[in-house]
Amino acid sequence: MREWIGKCRDCGKDIYCENGFLNGVVLDDQSLKCFACAEQEDAGTDGSEQKNAETGDSEQHSETELD
Ligand SMILES: [Zn+2]
Repeated sequence: MREWIGKCRDCGKDIYCENGFLNGVVLDDQSLKCFACAEQEDAGTDGSEQKNAETGDSEQHSETELD
């Protein structure tokens, strides 16, 4: 069973529901994105998290030197 749900709001690719599995994601405002466009947004979030981890590490290092 394959049901057309809508189009990716970023690239315009058709998004279907196949056997209960949606080959895309539904956003909070009910618009749709294919997995490729959704993954691109996730990658940006990961990058900023890594930056925060590096800053925390260097702070720990200077605390050790003060002791
Ligand atoms: Zn897309």
